Amino acid sequence: MRALRRDAAMTDRIQDFLRQRRDAGRDDGPCMVLDLEVVRDNYRSFATALPDTRVFYAVKANPAPEVLDLLARLGSCFDTASVVEIEQVLATGCPPERLSFGNTIKKERDIARAYALGVRLFAVDCEAEVEKIARVAPGSKVFCRILCDGDGAEWPLSRKFGCVPEMAGTVLERAQRLGLQAYGISFHVGSQQRNPRMWDAALASASAIFRDLAEKGIHLSMVNLGGGFPTKYLKDVPAVKAYGQAIFRSLRKHFGNRIPETIIEPGRGMVGNAGVIEAEVVLISKKSADDNVKWVYLDIGKFNGLAETMDEMIRYPIRTDFDGDELEACVLAGPTCDSVDVLYEKDPYFLPVSLEIGAKVLIEGTGAYTTTYSAVGFNGFPPLQSFVI
Ligand SMILES: *Cc1c(COP(=O)(O)O)cnc(C)c1O
Repeated sequence: MRALRRDAAMTDRIQDFLRQRRDAGRDDGPCMVLDLEVVRDNYRSFATALPDTRVFYAVKANPAPEVLDLLARLGSCFDTASVVEIEQVLATGCPPERLSFGNTIKKERDIARAYALGVRLFAVDCEAEVEKIARVAPGSKVFCRILCDGDGAEWPLSRKFGCVPEMAGTVLERAQRLGLQAYGISFHVGSQQRNPRMWDAALASASAIFRDLAEKGIHLSMVNLGGGFPTKYLKDVPAVKAYGQAIFRSLRKHFGNRIPETIIEPGRGMVGNAGVIEAEVVLISKKSADDNVKWVYLDIGKFNGLAETMDEMIRYPIRTDFDGDELEACVLAGPTCDSVDVLYEKDPYFLPVSLEIGAKVLIEGTGAYTTTYSAVGFNGFPPLQSFVI
Protein backbone atom coordinates (compact mmCIF):
# COMPACT_ATOMS: atom_id res chain seq x y z
CA MET A 1 0.00 0.00 0.00
CA ARG A 2 1.19 3.48 -0.79
CA ALA A 3 2.27 5.47 2.24
CA LEU A 4 -0.42 7.71 3.65
CA ARG A 5 0.54 11.29 3.10
CA ARG A 6 -1.73 13.36 5.24
CA ASP A 7 1.14 15.79 5.81
CA ALA A 8 2.08 16.22 2.17
CA ALA A 9 0.05 19.17 1.00
CA MET A 10 2.01 19.48 -2.23
CA THR A 11 1.89 16.43 -4.47
CA ASP A 12 3.66 15.62 -7.72
CA ARG A 13 0.32 15.71 -9.51
CA ILE A 14 -0.43 19.23 -8.28
CA GLN A 15 3.09 20.35 -9.16
CA ASP A 16 2.75 18.95 -12.70
CA PHE A 17 -0.64 20.59 -13.14
CA LEU A 18 0.66 23.99 -12.07
CA ARG A 19 3.73 23.67 -14.31
CA GLN A 20 1.55 22.89 -17.33
CA ARG A 21 -0.75 25.79 -16.52
CA ARG A 22 2.21 28.16 -16.36
CA ASP A 23 3.76 26.76 -19.55
CA ALA A 24 0.46 27.29 -21.34
CA GLY A 25 0.37 30.89 -20.11
CA ARG A 26 -2.93 30.34 -18.33
CA ASP A 27 -1.64 31.23 -14.88
CA ASP A 28 -3.42 34.57 -14.62
CA GLY A 29 -5.13 34.82 -11.26
CA PRO A 30 -5.02 32.63 -8.18
CA CYS A 31 -6.31 29.07 -8.31
CA MET A 32 -6.80 26.15 -5.99
CA VAL A 33 -5.76 22.71 -7.21
CA LEU A 34 -7.08 19.69 -5.36
CA ASP A 35 -5.61 16.20 -5.67
CA LEU A 36 -8.31 13.51 -5.41
CA GLU A 37 -5.73 10.86 -4.49
CA VAL A 38 -5.16 12.68 -1.21
CA VAL A 39 -8.91 12.74 -0.55
CA ARG A 40 -9.01 8.99 -1.21
CA ASP A 41 -6.14 8.46 1.27
CA ASN A 42 -7.87 10.63 3.85
CA TYR A 43 -11.13 8.69 3.50
CA ARG A 44 -9.27 5.43 4.01
CA SER A 45 -7.44 6.85 7.04
CA PHE A 46 -10.75 7.74 8.66
CA ALA A 47 -12.23 4.36 7.83
CA THR A 48 -9.18 2.63 9.31
CA ALA A 49 -8.87 4.80 12.41
CA LEU A 50 -12.58 4.56 13.26
CA PRO A 51 -13.57 1.20 11.77
CA ASP A 52 -17.04 0.99 13.31
CA THR A 53 -17.98 4.58 12.53
CA ARG A 54 -19.80 5.79 9.43
CA VAL A 55 -18.26 8.78 7.66
CA PHE A 56 -20.61 11.67 6.75
CA TYR A 57 -18.45 14.08 4.75
CA ALA A 58 -19.31 17.71 5.64
CA VAL A 59 -20.10 18.94 2.15
CA LYS A 60 -19.57 22.61 2.93
CA ALA A 61 -15.80 22.12 3.25
CA ASN A 62 -15.55 21.55 -0.50
CA PRO A 63 -18.58 20.63 -2.60
CA ALA A 64 -16.69 20.16 -5.90
CA PRO A 65 -18.62 17.52 -7.90
CA GLU A 66 -15.46 15.42 -8.37
CA VAL A 67 -14.96 15.26 -4.59
CA LEU A 68 -18.58 14.26 -4.00
CA ASP A 69 -18.41 11.67 -6.81
CA LEU A 70 -15.28 10.09 -5.41
CA LEU A 71 -16.59 9.94 -1.85
CA ALA A 72 -19.94 8.57 -2.98
CA ARG A 73 -18.12 5.79 -4.85
CA LEU A 74 -16.00 5.03 -1.78
CA GLY A 75 -19.20 4.52 0.21
CA SER A 76 -19.18 7.73 2.21
CA CYS A 77 -22.32 9.32 3.61
CA PHE A 78 -22.82 13.09 3.55
CA ASP A 79 -23.65 15.82 6.04
CA THR A 80 -25.54 18.55 4.19
CA ALA A 81 -26.75 21.96 5.30
CA SER A 82 -29.14 23.08 2.55
CA VAL A 83 -31.36 21.78 -0.24
CA VAL A 84 -28.71 22.75 -2.79
CA GLU A 85 -26.09 20.65 -1.00
CA ILE A 86 -28.56 17.75 -0.86
CA GLU A 87 -29.12 18.06 -4.62
CA GLN A 88 -25.37 18.25 -5.26
CA VAL A 89 -24.86 14.97 -3.41
CA LEU A 90 -27.86 13.24 -5.03
CA ALA A 91 -26.47 14.25 -8.44
CA THR A 92 -23.62 11.76 -7.85
CA GLY A 93 -26.16 8.94 -7.71
CA CYS A 94 -25.72 8.57 -3.94
CA PRO A 95 -29.01 7.31 -2.43
CA PRO A 96 -30.76 9.71 -0.01
CA GLU A 97 -30.46 7.16 2.83
CA ARG A 98 -26.79 8.17 2.99
CA LEU A 99 -27.55 11.84 3.69
CA SER A 100 -28.24 13.84 6.81
CA PHE A 101 -29.66 17.33 6.90
CA GLY A 102 -27.26 18.38 9.64
CA ASN A 103 -27.98 22.07 9.88
CA THR A 104 -29.99 22.88 13.00
CA ILE A 105 -31.42 25.99 11.29
CA LYS A 106 -33.78 25.01 8.47
CA LYS A 107 -36.83 26.57 6.86
CA GLU A 108 -39.85 24.30 7.13
CA ARG A 109 -40.26 24.30 3.34
CA ASP A 110 -36.63 23.17 2.94
CA ILE A 111 -37.24 20.31 5.38
CA ALA A 112 -40.26 19.36 3.25
CA ARG A 113 -38.14 19.43 0.08
CA ALA A 114 -35.41 17.34 1.71
CA TYR A 115 -38.07 14.84 2.80
CA ALA A 116 -39.49 14.73 -0.74
CA LEU A 117 -35.95 13.99 -1.97
CA GLY A 118 -35.77 11.03 0.41
CA VAL A 119 -33.78 12.44 3.34
CA ARG A 120 -34.88 10.95 6.68
CA LEU A 121 -32.18 12.08 9.13
CA PHE A 122 -32.27 15.58 10.61
CA ALA A 123 -30.41 17.62 13.23
CA VAL A 124 -32.25 19.68 15.82
CA ASP A 125 -31.30 21.69 18.88
CA CYS A 126 -34.67 22.98 20.11
CA GLU A 127 -38.33 22.04 20.24
CA ALA A 128 -39.41 24.55 17.57
CA GLU A 129 -37.21 22.77 15.02
CA VAL A 130 -38.62 19.39 16.14
CA GLU A 131 -42.13 20.69 15.49
CA LYS A 132 -41.22 21.75 11.96
CA ILE A 133 -39.78 18.31 11.19
CA ALA A 134 -42.77 16.51 12.72
CA ARG A 135 -45.09 18.53 10.49
CA VAL A 136 -43.37 18.00 7.13
CA ALA A 137 -41.03 15.01 7.55
CA PRO A 138 -43.14 12.56 9.61
CA GLY A 139 -41.44 9.50 11.06
CA SER A 140 -37.92 10.81 10.39
CA LYS A 141 -34.95 10.24 12.67
CA VAL A 142 -33.69 13.24 14.60
CA PHE A 143 -30.55 13.79 16.62
CA CYS A 144 -30.11 16.65 19.05
CA ARG A 145 -26.98 18.74 19.00
CA ILE A 146 -25.48 19.72 22.32
CA LEU A 147 -23.20 22.68 22.98
CA CYS A 148 -19.46 22.18 23.19
CA ASP A 149 -17.08 24.85 24.43
CA GLY A 150 -14.60 24.53 21.55
CA ASP A 151 -11.52 24.64 23.81
CA GLY A 152 -8.39 23.54 22.00
CA ALA A 153 -9.79 24.31 18.55
CA GLU A 154 -8.16 26.84 16.24
CA TRP A 155 -11.49 27.61 14.59
CA PRO A 156 -13.86 27.21 17.56
CA LEU A 157 -17.58 27.15 16.88
CA SER A 158 -19.72 29.53 18.85
CA ARG A 159 -22.85 29.02 20.88
CA LYS A 160 -24.78 29.30 17.63
CA PHE A 161 -25.48 25.55 17.42
CA GLY A 162 -26.64 23.16 20.09
CA CYS A 163 -28.45 23.33 23.40
CA VAL A 164 -27.20 22.58 26.89
CA PRO A 165 -27.12 18.81 27.56
CA GLU A 166 -29.87 19.20 30.19
CA MET A 167 -32.25 20.41 27.47
CA ALA A 168 -31.47 17.71 24.90
CA GLY A 169 -33.59 15.14 26.74
CA THR A 170 -36.65 17.40 26.60
CA VAL A 171 -36.11 18.11 22.89
CA LEU A 172 -35.81 14.41 22.04
CA GLU A 173 -38.76 13.44 24.23
CA ARG A 174 -40.88 15.91 22.33
CA ALA A 175 -39.63 14.44 19.02
CA GLN A 176 -40.65 10.96 20.12
CA ARG A 177 -44.05 12.20 21.25
CA LEU A 178 -44.63 13.87 17.88
CA GLY A 179 -44.04 10.61 16.03
CA LEU A 180 -40.40 11.15 15.08
CA GLN A 181 -37.65 8.72 16.02
CA ALA A 182 -35.43 10.15 18.77
CA TYR A 183 -32.23 8.81 17.29
CA GLY A 184 -29.22 10.29 19.04
CA ILE A 185 -26.95 13.09 20.13
CA SER A 186 -24.49 15.16 18.15
CA PHE A 187 -21.82 17.71 18.95
CA HIS A 188 -18.87 19.41 17.30
CA VAL A 189 -15.71 19.93 19.33
CA GLY A 190 -14.60 22.91 17.21
CA SER A 191 -12.86 22.88 13.86
CA GLN A 192 -9.12 22.24 13.60
CA GLN A 193 -9.25 20.57 17.01
CA ARG A 194 -5.68 19.74 17.91
CA ASN A 195 -6.49 17.81 21.08
CA PRO A 196 -7.87 14.27 20.54
CA ARG A 197 -9.09 14.17 24.16
CA MET A 198 -11.62 16.95 23.58
CA TRP A 199 -14.32 14.42 22.61
CA ASP A 200 -14.35 13.01 26.15
CA ALA A 201 -16.50 15.61 27.95
CA ALA A 202 -19.10 15.64 25.18
CA LEU A 203 -19.27 11.83 25.22
CA ALA A 204 -19.81 11.94 28.99
CA SER A 205 -22.76 14.31 28.45
CA ALA A 206 -24.09 12.14 25.63
CA SER A 207 -24.04 9.00 27.76
CA ALA A 208 -25.88 10.80 30.58
CA ILE A 209 -28.62 11.80 28.11
CA PHE A 210 -28.81 8.18 26.84
CA ARG A 211 -29.34 6.99 30.45
CA ASP A 212 -31.91 9.65 31.36
CA LEU A 213 -33.99 8.93 28.29
CA ALA A 214 -33.70 5.15 28.71
CA GLU A 215 -35.37 5.56 32.10
CA LYS A 216 -38.27 7.16 30.27
CA GLY A 217 -38.44 4.34 27.77
CA ILE A 218 -36.73 6.22 24.94
CA HIS A 219 -33.73 4.33 23.63
CA LEU A 220 -31.26 6.39 21.63
CA SER A 221 -29.03 4.57 19.14
CA MET A 222 -26.48 6.98 17.75
CA VAL A 223 -23.76 9.45 18.70
CA ASN A 224 -22.65 11.85 16.01
CA LEU A 225 -19.05 12.78 16.85
CA GLY A 226 -19.05 15.73 14.42
CA GLY A 227 -16.00 17.13 12.65
CA GLY A 228 -12.97 18.88 14.05
CA PHE A 229 -10.29 16.54 12.69
CA PRO A 230 -7.38 18.80 11.76
CA THR A 231 -5.30 19.49 8.70
CA LYS A 232 -1.59 20.10 9.16
CA TYR A 233 -0.86 23.78 8.58
CA LEU A 234 2.30 25.18 10.19
CA LYS A 235 2.07 23.32 13.48
CA ASP A 236 2.07 19.54 13.70
CA VAL A 237 -1.20 17.82 14.47
CA PRO A 238 -1.81 14.31 15.83
CA ALA A 239 -2.54 11.62 13.25
CA VAL A 240 -6.15 10.57 12.71
CA LYS A 241 -5.28 7.26 14.40
CA ALA A 242 -4.70 9.11 17.69
CA TYR A 243 -8.20 10.59 17.39
CA GLY A 244 -9.66 7.15 16.74
CA GLN A 245 -7.95 5.72 19.81
CA ALA A 246 -8.91 8.60 22.13
CA ILE A 247 -12.52 8.53 20.95
CA PHE A 248 -12.76 4.76 21.35
CA ARG A 249 -11.35 4.98 24.89
CA SER A 250 -13.94 7.63 25.80
CA LEU A 251 -16.76 5.59 24.26
CA ARG A 252 -15.72 2.59 26.38
CA LYS A 253 -15.38 4.73 29.50
CA HIS A 254 -18.80 6.35 29.21
CA PHE A 255 -20.88 3.68 27.47
CA GLY A 256 -19.19 0.53 28.79
CA ASN A 257 -19.97 -2.41 26.53
CA ARG A 258 -23.10 -0.78 25.15
CA ILE A 259 -21.28 1.37 22.62
CA PRO A 260 -23.79 3.15 20.39
CA GLU A 261 -23.70 3.45 16.64
CA THR A 262 -21.34 6.34 15.81
CA ILE A 263 -20.81 8.68 12.89
CA ILE A 264 -18.21 11.35 12.14
CA GLU A 265 -18.57 14.40 9.93
CA PRO A 266 -15.09 15.36 8.77
CA GLY A 267 -14.81 18.38 6.50
CA ARG A 268 -11.39 19.98 6.89
CA GLY A 269 -9.76 16.64 7.75
CA MET A 270 -11.07 15.09 4.52
CA VAL A 271 -10.03 17.72 1.99
CA GLY A 272 -7.84 20.37 3.65
CA ASN A 273 -4.46 18.84 2.84
CA ALA A 274 -5.58 17.82 -0.66
CA GLY A 275 -5.53 21.38 -2.00
CA VAL A 276 -2.88 23.96 -2.80
CA ILE A 277 -3.47 27.56 -3.89
CA GLU A 278 -1.09 29.20 -6.30
CA ALA A 279 -1.10 32.99 -5.93
CA GLU A 280 1.04 35.88 -7.11
CA VAL A 281 2.84 38.71 -5.34
CA VAL A 282 1.30 41.94 -6.64
CA LEU A 283 3.27 44.46 -4.59
CA ILE A 284 5.94 44.65 -1.92
CA SER A 285 6.28 47.96 -0.10
CA LYS A 286 7.10 49.74 3.15
CA LYS A 287 5.06 52.35 4.96
CA SER A 288 8.09 54.52 5.83
CA ALA A 289 11.80 54.58 5.03
CA ASP A 290 12.72 53.02 8.38
CA ASP A 291 9.77 50.60 8.59
CA ASN A 292 11.01 47.24 9.85
CA VAL A 293 8.22 45.23 8.29
CA LYS A 294 7.51 44.85 4.61
CA TRP A 295 3.98 44.71 3.28
CA VAL A 296 3.48 41.88 0.82
CA TYR A 297 0.25 42.06 -1.19
CA LEU A 298 -1.00 38.92 -2.92
CA ASP A 299 -3.67 38.50 -5.58
CA ILE A 300 -5.64 36.44 -3.05
CA GLY A 301 -7.05 37.59 0.27
CA LYS A 302 -9.96 37.30 2.66
CA PHE A 303 -12.57 37.83 -0.07
CA ASN A 304 -11.35 35.40 -2.72
CA GLY A 305 -10.49 32.32 -0.73
CA LEU A 306 -8.59 33.00 2.48
CA ALA A 307 -11.51 33.92 4.77
CA GLU A 308 -10.20 31.58 7.45
CA THR A 309 -7.34 33.99 8.13
CA MET A 310 -10.02 35.98 10.00
CA ASP A 311 -8.51 36.97 13.36
CA GLU A 312 -5.38 35.19 12.05
CA MET A 313 -6.95 31.91 13.20
CA ILE A 314 -5.76 29.62 10.43
CA ARG A 315 -2.08 30.10 9.52
CA TYR A 316 -1.30 28.48 6.20
CA PRO A 317 2.15 27.24 5.17
CA ILE A 318 3.40 29.36 2.26
CA ARG A 319 6.11 28.15 -0.11
CA THR A 320 8.07 30.33 -2.54
CA ASP A 321 10.83 29.79 -5.10
CA PHE A 322 13.13 31.66 -2.71
CA ASP A 323 12.80 29.27 0.24
CA GLY A 324 16.16 28.75 1.96
CA ASP A 325 17.08 32.44 1.71
CA GLU A 326 17.16 34.67 4.76
CA LEU A 327 13.69 35.49 6.14
CA GLU A 328 12.15 38.76 7.28
CA ALA A 329 8.91 39.77 8.97
CA CYS A 330 6.13 40.68 6.54
CA VAL A 331 2.57 41.82 6.82
CA LEU A 332 0.61 39.75 4.32
CA ALA A 333 -2.44 41.28 2.68
CA GLY A 334 -4.95 40.68 -0.08
CA PRO A 335 -5.59 42.74 -3.20
CA THR A 336 -8.96 44.40 -2.47
CA CYS A 337 -9.63 47.96 -1.31
CA ASP A 338 -11.14 46.80 1.96
CA SER A 339 -8.92 47.44 4.95
CA VAL A 340 -9.94 44.17 6.65
CA ASP A 341 -8.31 42.34 3.74
CA VAL A 342 -5.11 41.78 5.72
CA LEU A 343 -4.10 38.16 6.32
CA TYR A 344 -1.33 38.25 8.93
CA GLU A 345 -0.29 41.43 10.74
CA LYS A 346 -0.61 40.95 14.52
CA ASP A 347 1.65 37.96 14.13
CA PRO A 348 3.80 38.81 11.08
CA TYR A 349 4.64 36.14 8.53
CA PHE A 350 8.32 35.42 7.81
CA LEU A 351 9.07 35.34 4.08
CA PRO A 352 12.35 35.33 2.12
CA VAL A 353 14.01 38.75 1.74
CA SER A 354 14.54 37.95 -1.94
CA LEU A 355 10.80 37.52 -2.68
CA GLU A 356 9.92 39.65 -5.72
CA ILE A 357 6.89 41.34 -7.18
CA GLY A 358 5.39 38.96 -9.75
CA ALA A 359 6.67 35.84 -7.98
CA LYS A 360 4.29 32.93 -7.44
CA VAL A 361 3.62 31.61 -3.95
CA LEU A 362 2.05 28.30 -2.97
CA ILE A 363 -0.38 28.29 -0.07
CA GLU A 364 -0.71 24.77 1.26
CA GLY A 365 -3.52 23.00 3.07
CA THR A 366 -6.16 25.01 1.24
CA GLY A 367 -8.51 22.26 0.04
CA ALA A 368 -11.16 23.09 2.68
CA TYR A 369 -13.13 26.29 3.27
CA THR A 370 -11.52 28.29 0.46
CA THR A 371 -13.39 28.08 -2.86
CA THR A 372 -16.80 28.33 -1.19
CA TYR A 373 -15.76 31.21 1.05
CA SER A 374 -14.81 33.26 -2.00
CA ALA A 375 -17.00 36.26 -2.85
CA VAL A 376 -18.65 36.30 -6.26
CA GLY A 377 -16.83 39.39 -7.41
CA PHE A 378 -16.01 41.83 -4.64
CA ASN A 379 -14.04 44.76 -6.08
CA GLY A 380 -14.06 43.05 -9.47
CA PHE A 381 -11.89 40.14 -8.35
CA PRO A 382 -13.36 36.90 -9.71
CA PRO A 383 -14.14 33.96 -7.41
CA LEU A 384 -11.26 31.61 -6.71
CA GLN A 385 -10.77 29.20 -9.60
CA SER A 386 -10.79 25.54 -8.66
CA PHE A 387 -9.27 22.56 -10.45
CA VAL A 388 -9.81 19.03 -9.23
CA ILE A 389 -7.30 16.51 -10.56
C1 LIG B 1 -18.84 22.26 9.30
C2 LIG B 1 -19.36 21.08 9.98
C3 LIG B 1 -18.58 19.93 10.07
C4 LIG B 1 -17.17 19.85 9.55
O1 LIG B 1 -16.26 20.35 10.48
P1 LIG B 1 -14.68 20.20 10.25
O2 LIG B 1 -14.11 20.84 11.46
O3 LIG B 1 -14.35 20.89 8.98
O4 LIG B 1 -14.38 18.76 10.19
C5 LIG B 1 -19.14 18.83 10.68
N1 LIG B 1 -20.39 18.85 11.16
C6 LIG B 1 -21.18 19.94 11.10
C7 LIG B 1 -22.56 19.88 11.63
C8 LIG B 1 -20.68 21.09 10.50
O5 LIG B 1 -21.46 22.17 10.44
